[in-house]
Formats: sequence, structure tokens, C-alpha cells
Amino acid sequence: MQEFSLAIHGGAGTILKEDMTSVLEQAYISSLEDALAVGYKILEEGGSAVNAVKASIVILEDNLLFNAGRGAVFTKKGLQEMDAAIMNGKDLLAGAVAGIRNVRNPIVLATEVMLNSNHVFLSGKGANDFAIKQGIKLEPDEYFFSQFRYDQWKQIRDSDNYSLDHTHTGVEELMKDKKFGTVGAVACDKNGNIAGATSTGGMTNKKYGRIGDSPLIGAGTYANNKTCAISCTGHGEPFIRAVASYDVSCLIEYKGMSLAEAIHEVVHVKLVKLNGEGGMIGVDAHGNVAMVFNSAGMYRAMKTSEGEKFTGIYKD
Ligand code: ASP
Repeated sequence: MQEFSLAIHGGAGTILKEDMTSVLEQAYISSLEDALAVGYKILEEGGSAVNAVKASIVILEDNLLFNAGRGAVFTKKGLQEMDAAIMNGKDLLAGAVAGIRNVRNPIVLATEVMLNSNHVFLSGKGANDFAIKQGIKLEPDEYFFSQFRYDQWKQIRDSDNYSLDHTHTGVEELMKDKKFGTVGAVACDKNGNIAGATSTGGMTNKKYGRIGDSPLIGAGTYANNKTCAISCTGHGEPFIRAVASYDVSCLIEYKGMSLAEAIHEVVHVKLVKLNGEGGMIGVDAHGNVAMVFNSAGMYRAMKTSEGEKFTGIYKD
């Protein structure tokens, strides 16, 4: 029987047990498990990998704990500008958006771009216009406001620094209220089709319309039934330069590596050489799952039809 599986992440970075309270830790674990359950149910009922990854990400985008949708970080100008992408491994269709504002669920807009725009990647005001035309749900600025993200931003807004939502910046206060995380999901469905998706607010204090790896097909997000579906998280710039998720696919396709070997090579060898802190999750069309990171931690969860199940934050 075709195995099916789902993995999700909620960001990687300097996530240390000693900085975490048990209440916060529990909140992360149960949020991840709720999002996983929603996507997994879709797969169990015979739904597509694309629908499963989208549904899990919507739950994470609606959750203030994560740096995507509602919990998106502040830019230099004090706004929330979000990026997202989704890709279907069956037909290599993809949709992505960057620098969008006030869209409740960026992943829903990215899916709409994939299915109904004749394009792959829309940005800024044009992407917002497309959202309005397609009747995608918008929210006012207040919906996206959270005090702790505002405080995070206040620490560095007068500097030229920008920070990964989850990494020590030298500004210790930034770490006190560690609620961060780009979100992503990868799935293999009962038909052996795979999909990958990622959604983020990017990096705190980003400016000049900075776009990270998350919405870039082949960098932060990729899916191809022949090889793998990948969603990345971490410092976007090195992930872009490494063409990280497509590189995993290439190592499988051209070098015959397994999913686990290929992800290991990219995360622990290639990205490390570029100082690329972070990690990624992946599935292949046999339902195999890998979740690998070179940072202190990565919020992550997975479940397979073979009964394998894991939720975790730190290195084990
Ligand atoms: N990769 C994302 C970016 O650079 C950030 C993250 O994963 O948290 O925009």
C-alpha cells in the first residue's frame, strides 16, 4: 500500500531549553500537533498533498506563536510584509507571493496564484490587488499586531540590524519572549503525490522590500514527485545562495541519494559552508520523512501512515 505522511515546522534557530518555560513549550507542542492533525486528517481521508500542506499552514498562520500570517514580525517601517509559496510535486505547478500585507492567510493566496493566475510569483501591491479580485480574506493591521513582536522590533528598529526571529542577536532581550517561527509543511498523499509549502513574515526589521528564501521556488520551497518536497527555515540569504531545496532534489535525482542523505548533505555541509543557520523538512513519494537542522532547535512535528509520530523542539 502507498504510505502517506505529513511533516510541519514552525521555524528553526537558537531555541534553547533553558530559555523556555514549560507553559510556552507546551503551547508550541500543542499548536504543532493541532496543525499536524488537520493536515493528516485530509491525507487519511484520501485528500491531496497540496490540500494537506495548505490546511496545516493555515492553522499555523492563524496562531500568534509563529512568524507567519497573524504573528508576522515587523519590518523597519513597522509593518508586516509576508511571503509564502506552495508547490505541487505531481505537475510542478507552483504559486508564490512576496511582500504582501493584510492578507489573513498568505498560503491561501499563494495557492490561488498557483491555480488561477497564469503566473507563479506575484509581489507587493499587485499581489494584494489579485487577492482582492479573488475574494481572499483580508484583515486590518490590528489583527497582525502583537506586543511581543512589537517589543522585539523596538529593540533593533533604530539599528541597521535585522534578525532571524529565532536567533541570538547580541540583544538578549530579543530572546526573552521567544515566540517565533516561519512555518512550513510537506506531505505525501495516498496517491503518491507530494507537495511543499512555506509561509513567513521574514526577518524582524527587514527593509528595502527584502524577500527571503521562503517564497522562492527552489530556495525555501520545492516539490517534485520524482525526488522530494521540501520546506526550509532559517537565515534566508544563504538558503537562497545555496538554492537549498532544489539542491536536495538534485542530489536525489542526479546522485541517487536518499532523501535523508541529500538533506543531511545540504543542511550540514553545504549550508554550513555559507554560514546558513537553519533547517528543513522533506518527504519523498514513498512517504519517507526527514527533519534536519544545524541550529539549536527547530519546531517540528511529523506523522506517517506506518504509525511513526514525532513532535519536538530541540536536538535530541
Ligand atoms: N527563512 C526565513 C527568511 O529568511 C526566516 C525564517 O525561516 O524564520 O525570511
